[in-house]
Amino acid sequence: MKRTYINDLKNFIGKEVSISGWVDVRRDHGKLIFVDFRDMTGKVQAVALPSNKEAHEVANRIRTEWVVTATGIINRRPEKMISKNKETGEIEPNGDIEIELKKLEVLNEAQTPPFDVRGDGRDISEEARLKYRYLDLRRPRMQKTLRLRSEFVDRIRQFLFSKKFTEIETPYFTSTTPEGSRDFVVPSRMYPGKFFALPQSPQQYKQLLMTAGFERYFQIARCFRDEDLRADRGFEHTQIDLEVSFTNRDEIMALDEEMITTVTEAMGYKIQQKPFPRFTYKEAMAKYGADKFDMRTEEDKKNGILAFAWVIDFPFFEKDKEGKWTFTHNPFSTPSPEHLSWHMKGEQIENIMTQQYDLVCNGFETGGGSIRAHKSEILKATFKTMGYTDEQIERDFSHMLQAFDFGTPPHGGIAHGIERMVMILTGEMELREVQSFPQTSSGRTAVMDAPSTLSDEQLRELGIELRKKK
Ligand code: ASP
Repeated sequence: MKRTYINDLKNFIGKEVSISGWVDVRRDHGKLIFVDFRDMTGKVQAVALPSNKEAHEVANRIRTEWVVTATGIINRRPEKMISKNKETGEIEPNGDIEIELKKLEVLNEAQTPPFDVRGDGRDISEEARLKYRYLDLRRPRMQKTLRLRSEFVDRIRQFLFSKKFTEIETPYFTSTTPEGSRDFVVPSRMYPGKFFALPQSPQQYKQLLMTAGFERYFQIARCFRDEDLRADRGFEHTQIDLEVSFTNRDEIMALDEEMITTVTEAMGYKIQQKPFPRFTYKEAMAKYGADKFDMRTEEDKKNGILAFAWVIDFPFFEKDKEGKWTFTHNPFSTPSPEHLSWHMKGEQIENIMTQQYDLVCNGFETGGGSIRAHKSEILKATFKTMGYTDEQIERDFSHMLQAFDFGTPPHGGIAHGIERMVMILTGEMELREVQSFPQTSSGRTAVMDAPSTLSDEQLRELGIELRKKK
């Protein structure tokens, strides 16, 4: 018989249907055996009557998390048996129907899971949860979060397509692009002793796509950054990455604000203030002591309000630990027009502002972008200020400088961390709670055992010799 999704069973009262899924709970009342089944759409209660010997026998044998196909008649539950939400009194989903089992087929048995997959799982160790992540993901909270993430990305895509954007993928095997983190590197077998870097972001490629004339690009882009892990940082994260030609700061901010507003409101969220308030970096530091801040009241927090704000007018450069100038946000940004001549001459470096804009929400930095340097001399001046020699600039960025000299239009863009956005939307405080198979907090993979060693053969092929750490 054709499979019916549990969520649709209401349409089949009095009819015989088949569902497939997992055994969620089993309650043996002697003669009557109640089983809750679960599929990707929901849960439903079934009852095995002793009068149906075959189904009753199987219902007796099945255990939690076994995989089954169940066939039976959809009945309305008697009034007394309707399950209602204890607080609101509302009927639970499928709380007023049940399946009278006719046939029960076991598709696969299951060992007793190492932990309960029905609770919210917060009291279970990270080690156990990530070792058995495929079970951990069965819990309703994780199912809900990953589905919400999927809906969020889907709506972002729909919005951007409606605004004439083209979705374009850029390579993972690339050379380093400075985003302020360490690179993950991949050794090359064909060029022993040489390495690819995994992208910290598609920054340079998306700019080259502007040179290429796409004008409106976006990508749901994976970014790799070898940095110290924190609650809201992993080795990998995904960005909504976009770039636009022939634009300016206010246009990009308006477009981005429309995207975030359209998508979050369509998902049922309320925004504290529209248009999003703007703070200069100076104002934000004076008011909140940080460039990311939470403007919500206690009441807002209870009601799940989103408090977005823009931060603009950042200094372009700051001194690093060694006292050298480095970029505060993005070396590919362009300075504010009124500071361009200082920038070109390398004067008043501490006073040069960049056309960078960050989007803050509920205490997180959820996005950031800028209007870019689109002329080679501006980008060259940036790296000069950071102490690069002409040879170093040539070695690392000649491809960008060259592209700029082949008719690159003025352009700018922004990127949003999808995990940060989903953390805000779900109220989760850990990046790991919004990714399917995240790294552990000690930097190892979930389920699989990596990082791990290579065989001598693999090392030889890559031309790599390991040195003992001193
Ligand atoms: N590439 C920047 C980042 O990854 C975002 C941007 O400027 O568009 O943070």
